[in-house]
Amino acid sequence: MKAKLNKIAIALGGNLGNSVNIFCSALSKLGEGGVKNIKLSALFQSKPENCPPGSPEFTNAALIGEWGASPEELLELCQQIEISAGRPEKHDFNAPRTLDLDIILFGSKIINSPNLQIPHPRAASRLFVLKPLAELAPDWIFPGINKTIKQILQAKIQ
Ligand code: ADP
Ligand code: MG
Repeated sequence: MKAKLNKIAIALGGNLGNSVNIFCSALSKLGEGGVKNIKLSALFQSKPENCPPGSPEFTNAALIGEWGASPEELLELCQQIEISAGRPEKHDFNAPRTLDLDIILFGSKIINSPNLQIPHPRAASRLFVLKPLAELAPDWIFPGINKTIKQILQAKIQ
């Protein structure tokens, strides 16, 4: 039987190393790990928020794709890829990182387990997530808020 493919959105961020190369390699690894039909947004530069003084600027982007396994398996794949990009498994909160992969949306699912919350709890307040995601999926309805990505972004930048 063919597994049901869920539409997924992931935010990429990093402020250590060559983010373009790191993001490209993460995309190949997500593909090898089973994410289908990946589409990447443009890359943005953003100022560090709530980070230690002197933290380098961030590069951010978003991607959408399709995934046939569980949200927990997608989180595990993302965490393996972060580690393979050189991010230490144990790291301080908001420490500079080569790669952060946050699962933003998983179809219309809402998940609230201790190690996985979907939609990502801070996504709807972060321009560096909303802007690239609005490029790829403006009409995706954000579960819990019940507005489209484009509507949430427009309300934020007015
Ligand atoms: P942050 O992304 O806030 O900088 P981390 O990348 O260090 O922080 O992630 C901390 C924890 O967040 C992870 O161990 C993971 O279990 C948890 N987490 C909860 N929800 C999500 C999600 N939607 N995507 C990615 N990680 C998540
Ligand atoms: Mg993260």
